[in-house]
Amino acid sequence: MKNLVALVDGSRNIHLETRDVPEPGLNEVLIEIASVGICGSDLKYWAYGKCGRFALDGTQMVIGHEAGGTIVAIGQNIKHLKPGDRVAIEPGVPCKSCEICNNGRYNLCQRMKFCATPPVDGNLCKYYVHDADFCYKIPDSMTTEEAAMLEPLSVAVYACQRGEVSLGNSIVIFGAGPVGILCGLVAKSKGAANICIVDIDSGRLNKALELGAAHTVHCCKPGEDPQKVASDILSTIGSAMGPHCSIECSGADSSLSTGVYITRPGGCVVMVGRGSMTPSVPMVCAATKEVDIFGVFRYANNYPQALALLSSGAIDVKPLITHRFTLNDSEKAFETAADSKQKAIKVMINCQ
Ligand SMILES: [Zn+2]
Ligand SMILES: [Zn+2]
Repeated sequence: MKNLVALVDGSRNIHLETRDVPEPGLNEVLIEIASVGICGSDLKYWAYGKCGRFALDGTQMVIGHEAGGTIVAIGQNIKHLKPGDRVAIEPGVPCKSCEICNNGRYNLCQRMKFCATPPVDGNLCKYYVHDADFCYKIPDSMTTEEAAMLEPLSVAVYACQRGEVSLGNSIVIFGAGPVGILCGLVAKSKGAANICIVDIDSGRLNKALELGAAHTVHCCKPGEDPQKVASDILSTIGSAMGPHCSIECSGADSSLSTGVYITRPGGCVVMVGRGSMTPSVPMVCAATKEVDIFGVFRYANNYPQALALLSSGAIDVKPLITHRFTLNDSEKAFETAADSKQKAIKVMINCQ
């Protein structure tokens, strides 16, 4: 048995390399990876070798962090999983012992090891070892592609939790990529009544409408005034008071400003996307309206919720998967995901 791994180095190439199959430690499981989704952060490491504050610095890294597969071996201490179980892999393993971990916000642990965040290897490969505490058994009714989709879905569940999205709320989401669309689906399942999605790509907006958004706004041209965009959005949703919550998933700095302008007094802006390191935001407007701005960094304790949403049928993520490739064709998969002409929402790689 040999392992095959897909490496990136920031030069828009995927190098396939044969390695030994890793052995699970006492508290780990060995997983035969079946499905891996490509995420925006994966594309950044592939194309530029960096994402936000993390950089490859000339090294190679196994890419991939949205994965599902089948357990083939378990460490000596493992009781809750067995070979043959199909699992979703939560890609971040925190230290489990610091004050932040003990308080439950383990996504903020400073000793976090997260798949495909340098220098930690990801799981776009045939065989992969992971901490068993962060593997979730999926029911027979769920596919391994859906298991992979639990990663972006967990981001959306956490974003809606941070924004306290609840019954009857009006929500505006910036960005109709996978995370924006998933935020819309989660908000809807939490009873949000009026969901509007804003994007520059009309194809993505059509997908958002198909999946239940009440309104879409096609915007923005570069340099467009956020206050002008804000008034367009408010007239589209038919509410001068504005949404209870705005969720920024586009990574455009200007959307953060627009979010502050449109959000109703006492509401909140949830920042999921990442634009520049120092975006200019109308903070005085936020302060005088008591509009809170909540950061989102990945998720904590949200995999079980996301799993329940899928297995109960409350949310269907399958329509988001637009393209499929094999592990050997990973490079084509990344090129497709990066090319806006391909109209990809979620690109999946089958590793078996
Ligand atoms: Zn992701
Ligand atoms: Zn910790």
